[in-house]
Amino acid sequence: AKNNGKGHCAFYTPEQTERIVNRIGAEHALRHAIDNREFLLHYQPRVNAATGELTSMEALVRWAHPLRGMVSPGEFIPLAEETGLIVQIGEIVIDQACAQIAAWQNQQLQAVPVSVNVSPKQFAHADLKSVLMSSLARHGVAPELLELEITESCMLQDSQKVAQDIDAIKSCGIRVAVDDFGTGYSSLAQLQRLDLDVLKVDQAFTRELANGETGEAFFMTIVSMAHILGMHVVAEGVETTEQLQVLQALGCNEVQGYLISRPVPAGEATHFLVRRKLF
Ligand code: C2E
Ligand code: CA
Ligand code: CA
Ligand code: CA
Repeated sequence: AKNNGKGHCAFYTPEQTERIVNRIGAEHALRHAIDNREFLLHYQPRVNAATGELTSMEALVRWAHPLRGMVSPGEFIPLAEETGLIVQIGEIVIDQACAQIAAWQNQQLQAVPVSVNVSPKQFAHADLKSVLMSSLARHGVAPELLELEITESCMLQDSQKVAQDIDAIKSCGIRVAVDDFGTGYSSLAQLQRLDLDVLKVDQAFTRELANGETGEAFFMTIVSMAHILGMHVVAEGVETTEQLQVLQALGCNEVQGYLISRPVPAGEATHFLVRRKLF
């Protein structure tokens, strides 16, 4: 039974009960996956928009479920964020990314920075900096080879604390990017105050580029604003050569998307480090 807020007592409907039971089951499965380390990373290259040269790779987590196969992050990151389990999953992701950078360096390949996605709860967590530093140290990786992608929702909390957290991470040599830019509520004042390195423009805006002038004008405005603030601009979700050409003309620094490559397992991503020029 639950209290419906009016002083009466109501019962959960069968649908509500099912949802709760499912959720408890899902959370239990996620905890089990953490204990069993059932997560692995795929990598998607980011390239210089003008030259096609590899600039970095984004690590994207997958849950290698023994029965369900490869589960995409959209299916478990929201629950992980809600339950706080994202902190542990995030540690696994950071550690695997550092291990992979070290593995590439041991293969005598010229490493590029790897960016990892960080959720709001994980970003606000007091241990993030020490988790980062200990993973880097454990694998002997330079902090310059790691980048964090935070969303605008990470920047919604107490703005002074956010600025301090970003500065603390940056003072270690780790770069910080804003992910999915344009979908959240960050203000120009906030962007100016925060010392961010990279602005990743959400794929929704890249999609608009095919549909005429307003999409282009919007993108152009973001590019010039970012450049004034000293940030690199990355267009996400680039799927067509038409989009690439517009982005090149607008002076967008880097592109990422299916046109270049889908996210691939580490073994395949090794080829990007060998080829270097991806278009
Ligand atoms: P995101 O950080 O915005 O990552 C980009 C997503 O768009 C990825 O989906 C990628 O596969 C997909 N994508 C890349 N290029 C294209 C394209 O050209 N077209 C289209 N339609 N899609 C493209 P994915 O791998 O399913 O990840 C989804 C989201 O899950 C990520 O969005 C990110 O928010 C979250 N996520 C992934 N890995 C992690 C992680 O390790 N930690 C946290 N906290 N979140 C993660
Ligand atoms: Ca991202
Ligand atoms: Ca994104
Ligand atoms: Ca996204």
